[in-house]
Amino acid sequence: MAFDIRKIRDDFPILHQDVNGKPLVYLDNAATTQKPLQVIDAEAAVYKTINSNIHRGVHHLSNVCTEAFEEVRKKTADYINAESSDEVIFTRGTTESVNLLSSSFGETFLKEGDEIILTEMEHHSNIVPWQLLAQRRGVTVKVVPVTDAGELDMQGFSELLNEKTSLVAVTHISNVLGTINPVEEIIALSHTAGVPVMIDGAQAIHHVPVDVQKLDCDFYAFSGHKMYAPTGVGVLYGKRKWLQQMNPYQGGGEMIDKVSFSGTTFNDLPYKFEAGTPNYAGVIGLGAAIDYLRNMGLEDVWAYEHELFEYALKKMSAVPGIRFVGQARHHTSVISFLLGDAHPFDVGTLLDKLGFALRTGHHCAQPLMDRFRISGTVRASFAFYNTREEVDNLVEALKRVAMMLG
Ligand code: PMP
Repeated sequence: MAFDIRKIRDDFPILHQDVNGKPLVYLDNAATTQKPLQVIDAEAAVYKTINSNIHRGVHHLSNVCTEAFEEVRKKTADYINAESSDEVIFTRGTTESVNLLSSSFGETFLKEGDEIILTEMEHHSNIVPWQLLAQRRGVTVKVVPVTDAGELDMQGFSELLNEKTSLVAVTHISNVLGTINPVEEIIALSHTAGVPVMIDGAQAIHHVPVDVQKLDCDFYAFSGHKMYAPTGVGVLYGKRKWLQQMNPYQGGGEMIDKVSFSGTTFNDLPYKFEAGTPNYAGVIGLGAAIDYLRNMGLEDVWAYEHELFEYALKKMSAVPGIRFVGQARHHTSVISFLLGDAHPFDVGTLLDKLGFALRTGHHCAQPLMDRFRISGTVRASFAFYNTREEVDNLVEALKRVAMMLG
């Protein structure tokens, strides 16, 4: 393998601790990833050396801090290959990015009778904002079914696309099943029908190279905390042609051009969508996370994680009574499973006693749970700092848990 796993793990101090008297094995990376020292130090350095409110000061610190913040905008644009850094809007995370879009795009472009296409495997944050918009605007939400294998029913998708469709909003990768959706095909089909597409990239941005120009998506949303960056920072990428026309989201400082009680005019892109003081320290941390991922090389990250996933799937298949939920052909390093009739919460609680951090429950995807007629799953999600040894230990622990609950 191209990278030295021991050296990498040294970058993540949190991994070196005991939990319940056992060495921590952190397998909840789809919920949030741990942060390398490089990111922690970059954020701390802001407060130690350049902290100052950005964009408004004439003084030195404000200028340096503004420059560092705007550098990350360029770095982010480069990371996703946006045509221009004006198309990168900083938000609090994917959830806020989707809410921004549903509010601004929805109120600018959608009218009663229009349809929005989502899928059965969306995270609640790519469902509920659209439902709220549907209530406000008389818009209808249509849903692409998921197959038994945990893939999108593309025939079903094509059948839903019609002249009333105004937007398609779909996840790049499922946070529950790990399924990598054929977003290129979805975008191409939608564009042929004249429909713009938003991709929820929360589970993709740190696993697969994302090139928004090649994808030709109209919008792409993601969170910093899933990509080894600080929490409280996210991005909405949007094609300039849409962003320019869209109404602002929140009102406040920074997003304006001129304010008076007879009328207010708005700032240029991207500031029109960034009201108030942003989380500049977090954004600068995001820049360090991008550097970190780039240094590792996403191709190598993908190769390592994929190999670990294949290894884990094979090893875990030997656990008595295990049942995997979703068996998609294209997959990231996420494994959702059930152990016999045991409740996922009981499995997770026993694993926690043994030092393993896994997520249990509906994973903010209740419609997908309904689709599989289950109340939840146990989910192991791997990052590049996980090892085969951790997988082996997990399998042993699962065998013990299966015996206890069997
Ligand atoms: N979409 C997907 C696919 C996710 O996995 C998540 C986080 N679990 C979100 C959206 C929401 O992200 P956040 O909570 O960071 O806003």
